[in-house]
Amino acid sequence: MKKYKIAKIQGPNNIEINDWEMPELYPDEVKVKISACAICTSDQGIYKGARGNPYPFYPGHEVVGIVEEIGELAATEAKVGDKVVVCRMNRCGQCPSCRKGEDNRCIKSRSLHRPGRPAGPGGFSEYLIVPDYQVFKMSKDADMVTSALIEPVACCIGSVDKADVQLGDTVLVIGAGIMGLLHAEILRLRGARIIISEVDEERRKIAEKFADFVIDPTKDMESDIRNITDGYGVDSVFVTAGPPQLVPNLFKYVSGGADMVIYTSYYQPEGAETPIDLNDLHYKEYRLVGTISPTRYDFARAVSIINANRIDLSNFIRTTVPFENISKAFDMAIEPGSYRIVVTM
Ligand SMILES: [Zn+2]
Ligand SMILES: [Zn+2]
Repeated sequence: MKKYKIAKIQGPNNIEINDWEMPELYPDEVKVKISACAICTSDQGIYKGARGNPYPFYPGHEVVGIVEEIGELAATEAKVGDKVVVCRMNRCGQCPSCRKGEDNRCIKSRSLHRPGRPAGPGGFSEYLIVPDYQVFKMSKDADMVTSALIEPVACCIGSVDKADVQLGDTVLVIGAGIMGLLHAEILRLRGARIIISEVDEERRKIAEKFADFVIDPTKDMESDIRNITDGYGVDSVFVTAGPPQLVPNLFKYVSGGADMVIYTSYYQPEGAETPIDLNDLHYKEYRLVGTISPTRYDFARAVSIINANRIDLSNFIRTTVPFENISKAFDMAIEPGSYRIVVTM
């Protein structure tokens, strides 16, 4: 039987390449020959052992490739040889979340694992065999390295949609890591004025390319924001970094009715509790909302704007590393402040 190579996290700080038997396709599946897969922060968390994930785990969900085979009943617009990006999350299509179009929270997602398939998204691999609905066709001239970042773009589209951002609004993005900067790119496409707050000086310099205003939160952030917004405060805030204690402070910077979106995950075993004065929400009609993973609609829109070259994703990639050196790639990715490392097959 034919075998292919796939990377497996065996335990903390231990990733290796193993053989996997090439299975027959189920009728609704598509086989993709992988071109590239980016190392997400969540992959890094599992690699470092920070997420309490069971091992072994097959990481990799920011993934692009070429269609190699299509099951006889697979409903996909892609043909053999097409460039595609894979939205590597199982969705049942039947649960209340899926039926509402909120399939990023499919309640059956975890139980839809198919027998004979690796545990995890499995994108650091030569091949990926996935249900038809996970495959999104890209344009013929799509770049097969940068397009691996379509998944994080889709996450940020879902996040920006959680707030009511109108043309000309002033928004605050906390953090100038890759997720903060991608938020800024999408908010710019929405016609917002963007303030980025970032503690690190080097990152603040980079952020200047992406924002109308860049501020240092260790200085007088409140008066900086009052100055920029004529004393009113911002219309929305997106939290992509920082500790939980930062969130109650945001009330100082926003106008009445503002939306506050919690994008970041808090990898803290003790939880991420922080006190919030509910009267702030009540009297000022603030909305505090979370966001997680893209819906398929978010994903389709991410593909659309990247196919149309609306965002230059090369800005967010530090380097590429060949698949054979996956261990080195993960060690580079966990260095603090690193932009995306993309593993190429
Ligand atoms: Zn990701
Ligand atoms: Zn579902």
